[in-house]
Amino acid sequence: MCFHQQLFQYMMDLVPKIPIIFLIDFLRYFLFAGLAFLVFYIWKHPFQYRKIQEKNAKPSQFKKEFLYSVSSVVVYTSVTLTVLLFRKYGYFKFYERIEDHGWGYLILSTVLILVIQDFYFYWTHRLMHTRWFYKRVHKVHHDSVTPSPWTAYSFHPWEAFIHSLIMPIVASLFPVHPLALMIFMTFQIIRNVLGHSGYEIFPYWMGTNTILKLVNSNTNHDMHHQSFRYNYGLYTTAWDYLFGTVHPEYERTFAEITSKKPEGRRRVPETA
Ligand SMILES: [Zn+2]
Ligand SMILES: [Zn+2]
Repeated sequence: MCFHQQLFQYMMDLVPKIPIIFLIDFLRYFLFAGLAFLVFYIWKHPFQYRKIQEKNAKPSQFKKEFLYSVSSVVVYTSVTLTVLLFRKYGYFKFYERIEDHGWGYLILSTVLILVIQDFYFYWTHRLMHTRWFYKRVHKVHHDSVTPSPWTAYSFHPWEAFIHSLIMPIVASLFPVHPLALMIFMTFQIIRNVLGHSGYEIFPYWMGTNTILKLVNSNTNHDMHHQSFRYNYGLYTTAWDYLFGTVHPEYERTFAEITSKKPEGRRRVPETA
């Protein structure tokens, strides 16, 4: 079989997978964003007093965010299909049998994917805040100044493409099991949806602990949407602290929001 015939055959083999991959990606977004929307925007209680911004997200923005998110899912599906095609030619280090590397490796590789993505996201995010990229690419995401759960995948297609490259990057560095990818994708959507939810769920003491304050909070990313600067991190604030890009008001704002009481009374910290 010549190269072109083989390529055609490989592409035909992937056709039945297109709706499955699209649906998995879409439902992952729709279910988690929908659940967060239900909890924070429909039921409102018990998180109402933990609202980060005074302003409310406009209902008109939800539709735009949803449509951009669906376009992002199309991009993610296309990249996944391209990776699967290259895999047939022996590229990328995927493996099927967990026993080949063991459960310890599976857990370690999942954590490693998240660490690499955290670093990759920070720097690509900073790149997207340069004038050229911001105007042409990243502005779509920042049109949501008051983000909502539906903002999670609301990206320009080029930004969605940049985010989706994390999968081929890690799969060219070390062996990756589909389960590790599944856990990673679920983790990233939960973090993404919460970071855009508009409400803070983390406890006050997280912001005062030297180690725990390196975990990114919902307030942190919400402030990024309001200021268009600072707080570029995804899962951690480590790179922001290291490279001096933490919002000067972040720690104070986090303490203020998390010290609110449901009745409206505030537990103002003694030292504040
Ligand atoms: Zn940004
Ligand atoms: Zn965002």
